[in-house]
Amino acid sequence: MNKILFTLTTLFTFLFVTAQPDYFYPQASKFKSSIPTPEQFLGYPIGSHHTRHDRLVEYFKELDKLSERVTVQIVGETYEHRQQIAAIFTSSANHNRLEEIRTTHLANQLTGGTENIPLVIQLGYNVHGNEASSSEAAMLTAYYLTASEDTETIKWLDQMVILMDPNINPDGRDRHTNWANMHKANPPVADPLDREHTEAWPGGRFNHYWFDLNRDWFLAVHPETKNRLAFFHHWRPYVQTDHHEMGTNSTFYFDPGKSSSNNPIVPDDLYKNIYPRFGEYFSQALNNIGSMYFTKEAFDKLYPGYGSSYINFYGGAGFLFEQAGSRGHVQETSTIPLTFAFTIRNQFVSALTTIRASIAEKPNLLKLRAAFYRNSIESAKKSPVRAYIFGDARDGTRTSAFINLLLAHQIDVYQLEKTEVYNGRRYDAMKSFIVPVDQPNYLMVRSVFEKGITYTDSLFYDASTWSLIHAYDLPYAEIKTSVTLAKKISSVTPEKYNVQKSDYAYVFDLSDYHAHKAIYHLQLKGVIVQSAFRPFTTFIDGTQKTFGYGSVIIPVQQQKIPSDSIFKAINEASSAGNIKIYSLGSGYNTGGIDLGSSYVRTLRTPQVMMLVGTGVVPMEAGEIWHLLDQRIGLPITKIDIVNITRAELNRYNTIVMVSGNYTLLDKTNTDQLKSWVQNGGTLITLKTAAEWAIKQGFTKEKLLAPDTAKVKIIPRYNYDDAVNIEGAKALGGSIFSVDLDTSHPIGFGTGTRSISMYKNGPTVFTPSSNNYSTVVKYNNNPLIGGYLHAASLKKIKGNAAVVVGSEGKGRVIFFADNPNFRGTWYGTNKLFLNALFFGSLINVPSITE
Ligand SMILES: [Zn+2]
Repeated sequence: MNKILFTLTTLFTFLFVTAQPDYFYPQASKFKSSIPTPEQFLGYPIGSHHTRHDRLVEYFKELDKLSERVTVQIVGETYEHRQQIAAIFTSSANHNRLEEIRTTHLANQLTGGTENIPLVIQLGYNVHGNEASSSEAAMLTAYYLTASEDTETIKWLDQMVILMDPNINPDGRDRHTNWANMHKANPPVADPLDREHTEAWPGGRFNHYWFDLNRDWFLAVHPETKNRLAFFHHWRPYVQTDHHEMGTNSTFYFDPGKSSSNNPIVPDDLYKNIYPRFGEYFSQALNNIGSMYFTKEAFDKLYPGYGSSYINFYGGAGFLFEQAGSRGHVQETSTIPLTFAFTIRNQFVSALTTIRASIAEKPNLLKLRAAFYRNSIESAKKSPVRAYIFGDARDGTRTSAFINLLLAHQIDVYQLEKTEVYNGRRYDAMKSFIVPVDQPNYLMVRSVFEKGITYTDSLFYDASTWSLIHAYDLPYAEIKTSVTLAKKISSVTPEKYNVQKSDYAYVFDLSDYHAHKAIYHLQLKGVIVQSAFRPFTTFIDGTQKTFGYGSVIIPVQQQKIPSDSIFKAINEASSAGNIKIYSLGSGYNTGGIDLGSSYVRTLRTPQVMMLVGTGVVPMEAGEIWHLLDQRIGLPITKIDIVNITRAELNRYNTIVMVSGNYTLLDKTNTDQLKSWVQNGGTLITLKTAAEWAIKQGFTKEKLLAPDTAKVKIIPRYNYDDAVNIEGAKALGGSIFSVDLDTSHPIGFGTGTRSISMYKNGPTVFTPSSNNYSTVVKYNNNPLIGGYLHAASLKKIKGNAAVVVGSEGKGRVIFFADNPNFRGTWYGTNKLFLNALFFGSLINVPSITE
């Protein structure tokens, strides 16, 4: 059987060499001979090999060089220094007036009056790096648009500007490309368990920091996305495609998707009219080549951060394509073997069909956008909320990061001119900002600020809320009266501060997001850094100032380096972190502790290791790696689980374990970790890693909250209802209000007991039996935003989210949730950073009975 299969596939591969254009392209097509096919340029038939990103870029540049129809722009580069390109396909006449086309297109789009201007659409490929068929299809599409002499193609180029992002995730794609090529056999092996088809951890899906870029369109954490958003808004296309792959035994998916998963704030016209119309074109094209497909039963368009949904919030139409993946060159399925070439052909056909459908449906696309903006402006006028005010004068870094995100989405932001009080909270002039609802991108404003958008579906593919104001945990208020708007912001940078030289001490508080960055910078420069475990009040320039829990103290004389070097390091730390650092001439404070108090502790420099590799959730690990690399500048050693036996654990004072399956750790490894904790180590565990540590006896406490979802009387349901009923019980990602002990080192610098926390898993702790160990507790009415099943609410409310257990000389910090979710939870990042920087100084108080 296998032998026949190999012979067949070999034959199949051979066929591409001689007849490749016929396989991919419509038979009647005529092509310019001056333009090389991808096969001629690359030296192998498309589908017989995985194309490296640099070769793909070279091919696009070659097309730019040879043809008047193509322009290639470099829009940026990835963490691993791969070029991000965007290609523009249109007639040479249109190319000569491209800027005029763009500005007219943008100027008229709100009114739908762009009938005489070429239609702008964008094709996007390979956001998940190991869904490799699409970038190969991008090269075929590029060739087709550049070389075809068919009248239809000429018409497209005359009447359209086709933008193409041929590889959204170059770092991830190359990781997979090298994997597939290095394991490729001849004859090919279709066995699904062959190494070619089973990538090693973390796989090519993610970017450099193991983030899913198909969530990042809304969060804009990474350069790939920031560059892409700038290009997107520069052009604001009417259509955006997003090509993916799914399981090998599936078929092909195109929109319309699941109607219960349509975003309720996006006008219905898109879902009821545009998607079904385009669906007709896709089905026709796939019928013609005999490909099977499905629609309507899966995939959501709720969340604005997917490549196939972001544009929907700007009056355009986003299209998702999901092709069953060969994940390698050929793989067995429940029917015939799936070849890479076959998967590429479906993607290519869908891309050409998108172009064909878009130009045919141009009047409807123009109407869609005009109606969308009319609707936005009308609903904004009806909104009882007139504006949002926000800002944290104590944290310029976090406030600026949030504003830059709003600006990336082209949301209008204004600076507050005079200090105001809303809902009992003071918003400082110049340090607070206003976002009026009366603006064209009102739907994005709602997506960022609203917490209570209700969704009809209770099954969430990904998350059930994404209110960014809560992720950043910034003070904010809804303004329901009319507002006067003064200065519109076009960019923002956090304030810089000057430091006065001191011969006695420097102090700063932990309120700024970059406080830990400043601490680490000082430690790196050899400065001894201390922390006040109790607040103090002192006079600064004639006024009293209180420094809260955890504030940083740097004595000048009790140091191993001279005061000039300390001053230099202090200045660098202040400017690297935009931190206001104060000089003091006396340690005698007017309130609270003095600077030489026994409540002032010397901080240890974090020596951090994180377990990674098979079984570990790459995204959670990557979020920590990214946080420490990009925001703090703190190195973290990533040790593969299989190498733990070789690790000298004493090199590290802190070990991090994120969610995962830790069955690869045997008893010896576990005992090794336990004795490291007993000897003074700080183990930080997140979600299921916390459950693992509890079950392995890292604490004597029974911390796992019982599952109240279990019902005693068992009702009988229909078999087919299981997906909906059971899925509805899952915690699909919601925002909770929690009470935080701000006097606990984990809560240092937050300033407020009530904070927002993101939860997307079932881990919940019972409060600790030690009165001082429950650092974070879910409130009794905890849901801020998102979906929550009644059974989950019962399990969560009043229970614990963060517990610290003391074990020997060390301690274990249990997080029920992921405080670093998607690089966007600036609020709870602080708790995690506190665990790293203050963990080794936490001694859980013993209780006197
Ligand atoms: Zn995908």
